[in-house]
Amino acid sequence: MSTFLGMPALPVYGSGNLHASESFPKSAHRELGNAQLRSNLGHATRTIRDKRTQVVSELPDWEQLRDAGSAIKESVMARLPELLEQFEQNFTARGGVIHWARDAGEANRIVAGLIRDTGETEVVKVKSMATQEIGLNEYLEEQGIAAFETDLAELIVQLDHDKPSHILVPAIHKNRTQVRDIFLREMENVDPDLTNEPSKLAAAARTHLRRKFLTAKVAVSGANFALADSGTLAVVESEGNGRMCLTLPETLITVMGIEKLLPTWQDLEVFMQLLPRSSTGERMNPYTSLWTGVTEGDGPQNVHLVLLDNGRSAALADEMGRSALHCIRCSACMNVCPVYERTGGHAYGSTYPGPIGAILSPLMTGIQAEENDSLPYASSLCGACYDACPVKINIPDILVHLRSVDVDSKRGTKKVPNQMDVGMKAASWALSSGKRLGLIEKGLPLSRLAAGPNKKITKLPGIAAGWTQSRDIPAPPTQSFRAWWNKEHHTPDAGVGTPLKKEEQP
Ligand code: SF4
Repeated sequence: MSTFLGMPALPVYGSGNLHASESFPKSAHRELGNAQLRSNLGHATRTIRDKRTQVVSELPDWEQLRDAGSAIKESVMARLPELLEQFEQNFTARGGVIHWARDAGEANRIVAGLIRDTGETEVVKVKSMATQEIGLNEYLEEQGIAAFETDLAELIVQLDHDKPSHILVPAIHKNRTQVRDIFLREMENVDPDLTNEPSKLAAAARTHLRRKFLTAKVAVSGANFALADSGTLAVVESEGNGRMCLTLPETLITVMGIEKLLPTWQDLEVFMQLLPRSSTGERMNPYTSLWTGVTEGDGPQNVHLVLLDNGRSAALADEMGRSALHCIRCSACMNVCPVYERTGGHAYGSTYPGPIGAILSPLMTGIQAEENDSLPYASSLCGACYDACPVKINIPDILVHLRSVDVDSKRGTKKVPNQMDVGMKAASWALSSGKRLGLIEKGLPLSRLAAGPNKKITKLPGIAAGWTQSRDIPAPPTQSFRAWWNKEHHTPDAGVGTPLKKEEQP
């Protein structure tokens, strides 16, 4: 399992199966045809889900912890500018240097400039979603700087020129045999008899990475949390590779979204209980690294932090959607999502996949963006993500909100109404009057004719065809619920749309 938290800096270069601006339905359809992917994902998400359920059930105050996490994040969003200034003051006073980046381009230029100033052309990376979000690896490559991922799962994905499909376990879509084949093909000096045993694979990766750790002069990381009251940064991980990057090189450059702040050390206590349990299903993660500026003779002597906006201010301005910024990237919502489990992360076409990606990407880069406008619909709205989220982000409500934003943004732009527009208008007309609905219900038995002798409708026309693409619809009942109710309660049929008496209402 890979490190959690941090955030990967992932290669976005040429993956064979990636179609960046493709809509979710199209890419999901393609991914669903990959039986190996579905089998790998089903196995992996089931395993993490079970572990999480077990360790969460051990805590009698889990719900109170979730409430506390949610309240802390809410207060951070309410006074973000003030906390950012406090953090900057403390971080700078302890020898760190802060850089502010409005967008991905600015952040990339800052990081590349800092690396160039050291005279180095290679960096080691700690898993980081923020650097993946800005496409840092690709930018550095263009600038002649090689970035080496050190998180095991990130390394697998990078070696395979693929893209992560999960924020915690980026290589969740690959099994052990696939990983062995990648190592044999891409790693230098690897044992040609390498098997797919996890310990052998880990040993091969360790040998490969050790050389990088011992020679790298510059490291790039993300951060899980930043504590405003002391200017401290925190990285939470499982492998220890992150800590090697954070302590061995002379220069450490961290890229962090501005929403990662926590007001005090005391607040960290809440999140250190919520995060490991929700992400890897561990009571405590193996490595938590915390650093506050520069300490002479100990660790990196040049410490930089790039504070990244890149659409977060836009998300914050959306009153309904801003709680998406509470996300601590645990990935619990992905592991319980029936849509994610079947399609995998690549289908979402965005840095952040799964339920959180379906709200975060449109909130940060706009629902009008081609790659975003189908994401709020990539959900059955079952609510499993909300139940699992350690900071209680109401993802289903935000999905519905974003759907309405999407519909509103397209309103009036179409000259000719499509089938959906006509259907919705008809539904609105029928459902806004009990009499009309009653009349339509009376005609329902007629539609039994379409079902034929086997009492199943196997093919619907137009946009309704999606319903019968993979299942049949049973023939409608011979009478409507209203007719059945009136008969059962011996109420004379006083006419369609007759309201039930108060005592009869269900
Ligand atoms: S939305 Fe909640 S469950 Fe999903 S990754 Fe973020 S914190 Fe975890």
